[in-house]
Amino acid sequence: MTLRLLLALLALPLGAQTSAFGTKVSAEPAPATAPAAAPASAASPTTAGTAAPAAGISDEFVDNSVQISPFRPTLLPEAKSTRTFQLSKLNRLGSTETTKELQRLFSAFATQSIVDGSPAGSSKAVGYLTTVNYSILQDLGDNRYLAKAAWPAAGPNEALAAGVDTMALLLLEKPAKPGDTGKITGMHVGTVAILFTPDFAPLKGRRLTLRREAFLECATLEDSPAGLQRFVEAIAAGAELSATTSETIPCKKCGGLGFTREAQKGQLLDKRVPCGDCASTGKLIISVETKFVP
Ligand SMILES: [Zn+2]
Repeated sequence: MTLRLLLALLALPLGAQTSAFGTKVSAEPAPATAPAAAPASAASPTTAGTAAPAAGISDEFVDNSVQISPFRPTLLPEAKSTRTFQLSKLNRLGSTETTKELQRLFSAFATQSIVDGSPAGSSKAVGYLTTVNYSILQDLGDNRYLAKAAWPAAGPNEALAAGVDTMALLLLEKPAKPGDTGKITGMHVGTVAILFTPDFAPLKGRRLTLRREAFLECATLEDSPAGLQRFVEAIAAGAELSATTSETIPCKKCGGLGFTREAQKGQLLDKRVPCGDCASTGKLIISVETKFVP
């Protein structure tokens, strides 16, 4: 619930409605009274915002409204396979449900969950979690900030590439001011388009649109024995929880050999054909969702 609110807040077109000059109309087609101007503005679609102050208005007017719109959402990988982890089978002879496996899966669960105000106390993170070091460049209102940021890559195959001295949009828990530095656990919520007027050099005063990665400050679940205990109790009470992990499984096509055999006419030995499914490794790494049941 809280997360949905935060996501909505992030993309709130603040100021668009309140601008004294009605900058919203700049997104509309040119009015019929100025047909000659239409081709010119159409030729520079990426700078639509710069046309906002109409002719005749003083250059001193600075449009400081901020518009943030989702540009490219985070796409978490779909689990290729699902399985269940049954708590009542824990440590039974011959079962795969061991204490060690439970601990491993809980650690994954903890890093994929964010603490919030939902009844369970946490929800599944809808984006990759990473540590973001930042230095605030500009306050965009409503605890949204443009910052110089750095973060390590996250997700399988570095689905979220690392950021090094990169401008990013942050939604922080507490107010901050330009120049403030800090470190947060950030959930990547995708790329957003920010239409604003920078008040820092060298872009100061230029109305422009930037497309940048956006992160929400959040807290992950505590990976501790107490956290594990609460997790087990929640499952026993009927909570539907799952964790997604990368698992190595034998390749089905080649049976884990890395090649398939092809009979050769008149030859004793079969021809070995490298397996394309697993690139001859005999193994596949797939994303598996483990659902926990009592
Ligand atoms: Zn194979």
